[in-house]
Amino acid sequence: MEQLDLLWDLELHHDSLSFCQKSMFRLRNKFNFNEVEKKIEKAEDKVIYLRNKKEKMKLMLNKYNSKLKDYNFKINEIEKNLYDGNTTDIKQLEFLDIEKDKIKKMINEMEIEILEQMDEVDATDEELLLIEWELEEIKIENEEIQKEYSEQERLLSSKIIVEKKNILEIEQKIDKELLDKYYNIKKNKGSGIAEVKDGVCCGCNMLLPTIQLDRLHNDDKITLCENCGRILKIGP
Ligand SMILES: [Zn+2]
Repeated sequence: MEQLDLLWDLELHHDSLSFCQKSMFRLRNKFNFNEVEKKIEKAEDKVIYLRNKKEKMKLMLNKYNSKLKDYNFKINEIEKNLYDGNTTDIKQLEFLDIEKDKIKKMINEMEIEILEQMDEVDATDEELLLIEWELEEIKIENEEIQKEYSEQERLLSSKIIVEKKNILEIEQKIDKELLDKYYNIKKNKGSGIAEVKDGVCCGCNMLLPTIQLDRLHNDDKITLCENCGRILKIGP
């Protein structure tokens, strides 16, 4: 019976459509782009923070170096006054000596400060390099994931369009009343038509009474399963 074959065909295309739609749903859940974008954003923020930190430290280092230069200039002046023989006043010489020691101590402290600051700059540089490399990796990974997603999405979308078109075409060939009946059953049962194999309805797996099987084989009328209510079709 051609109408039953069409209904069966319709059922198969509905199955295929719903499989594609479920796959699309799973695909969208599998590729969580929000998470990757958050990762990228976090890494980019860290890069900006470290670059600023490095810049500030460099400015500080310049400041320290210019202070060191000042101290060295001062100590040269003091030593000139101490040793050129022009200053003879003992008190004045004592004062210069104390000043010299004071500045020497400041120079030592400043040199330690500069070394520490330079170490900090190096450490920040290393951290920056690492995070920039990580960021690059995440971006490459993201591009690959996007590509894979787009490819799968494109395939599924086109399959969904084709299946919807197939369904519309088949529906047009089926009697309106039968089609309504089919969709009513499908709405309640998930499927509207079931094959009968070895006397069993494949929709509910129940053995059909002989009288119903006889009707199915000999009658041209649409037969419903007495148990599940699905439209019955003789299986291969
Ligand atoms: Zn049944």
